[in-house]
Amino acid sequence: MEHQIQNYIGGDWHAAQSGAYLDNYQPATGKVYSRLPDSDARDVELAVEAARKALPHWSKCGAQERFQILMRVADLIERDIESFASAESADSGKARTLARTVDIPRAIANFRFFATAILHFSSEAHPMEGEAVNFTLRQPLGIVGCISPWNLPLYLFTWKIAPALATGNCVIAKPSELTPMTAYLLTKVCAEAGLPAGVLNILHGLGGKVGQAIVEHPEIKAISFTGGTATGRSIAQTAAPMFKKLSLELGGKNPVLIFADAPFEEMLNTTVRSSFANNGQICLCGSRIYIQRPIYEQFREAFVARVKALRVGDPEAPDTNQGALVSQQHLEKVAGYIRLAQEEGGKILCGGQRVEMPGELAGGYYLQPTVIEGLPIGCRTNQEEIFGPVVTIAPFDTEEEGLAFANGTNYGLAATVWTNDLMRAHRVAEQLHFGIVWINCWMLRDLRTPFGGVRQSGVGREGGLEALRFFTEPKNVCIRYW
Ligand code: NAD
Repeated sequence: MEHQIQNYIGGDWHAAQSGAYLDNYQPATGKVYSRLPDSDARDVELAVEAARKALPHWSKCGAQERFQILMRVADLIERDIESFASAESADSGKARTLARTVDIPRAIANFRFFATAILHFSSEAHPMEGEAVNFTLRQPLGIVGCISPWNLPLYLFTWKIAPALATGNCVIAKPSELTPMTAYLLTKVCAEAGLPAGVLNILHGLGGKVGQAIVEHPEIKAISFTGGTATGRSIAQTAAPMFKKLSLELGGKNPVLIFADAPFEEMLNTTVRSSFANNGQICLCGSRIYIQRPIYEQFREAFVARVKALRVGDPEAPDTNQGALVSQQHLEKVAGYIRLAQEEGGKILCGGQRVEMPGELAGGYYLQPTVIEGLPIGCRTNQEEIFGPVVTIAPFDTEEEGLAFANGTNYGLAATVWTNDLMRAHRVAEQLHFGIVWINCWMLRDLRTPFGGVRQSGVGREGGLEALRFFTEPKNVCIRYW
């Protein structure tokens, strides 16, 4: 076996207490290429013990020390960026170029952003004239759990871990069992950067086993979770009666609303990306595209031509646009939705088939990017999250109708709007029931902004001050003047 991943507990690398390992498949080939520990509640217990020992120093050492260590972590990931990018691509099937230019740089940025943010973090004072002053002490929660998905492995893992550590918490973190490799590499750079033992503990294994044990552990005070809506619901059922603080970043079914006055070329380029970046496996991808009728035909023709030109293939090849999907199971799920779309009356305009690759890649999970039209707004294909390279397109007439289509799901993560009409941009943005609205752009991210969804896309916000506040407990201290 080429790689054997280990848990990271108390600054050291360990097998799971069970002694068992799970197979880790390489999506590009469909073959097992590493193994990860099959951890359970016993490993969580050891990690909590280690975190408990580390907490008094880490929570009190001060922002300056935490800043320096987290900046070193960022520098070391940057030093090793090529091996991180290769590992991310091998583990997830995403094009290596994407991992090299987006995922890993963003993980580095997450550490730098929160390392510096903690130096500027402040809290409020509420003076009561002539009587007293209240001030808000923001203290670390203690030991917190961070659980993340497979689609942007290190990017989303660090998006949680960095603010949790910066605010002085000790962390028990679990990456997805489908993409554990860069979390494992992260442990090496954390040790080299001098992160004290037990401050960050990383456990590997199945969500229903070790993930559930993290959520259930009474000493773990908060859970920051990114993943599917059904998993979020189950985590809330366990954590809410224990009164844990919860941040749930869940699924989406994001609309793209294109008005006839949109800047056409710019809109087309970005809509290809917002539909198929990372094979559509980004929670922010727009999967329902609504186009105002006067430009519907023009859009359909140009869009389908551009999608047909996307190159599906070896994630390692520099000119690959679309690598492999993350797993056989996910490939089957997405293919199942393409069949469902046809049963529901949809017409496939392009794609829809698996891509057979030669040689070593023959067993990989490749799928053509797929565009479907002719589906009713309320059908399952247009209501359920597919999370793959599949989009539907449909025309709309008026602004009201476009808004009704866009708002017409139970999800509320991100919406994209294309228009040159400033007044309309404001009007529509105000009426969209989503946590994030992009006007004439997509995935333009400023890490200071609140990030998260409404309705079935989640509860709570990450990013900037929201994350620093989530990972701290506000305590009001009221001091009376004499
Ligand atoms: P998932 O819910 O299956 O798993 C996410 C993580 O939770 C994994 O680490 C998994 O092992 C763990 N887990 C599973 N069951 C658990 C349990 N009972 N207790 C504790 N942990 C458990 O999601 P996924 O398939 O890995 O990721 C895809 C989903 O993530 C999509 O729905 C996507 O929209 C969503 N997502 C959302 C955002 C966002 O910011 N809103 C970002 C990325 C992905």
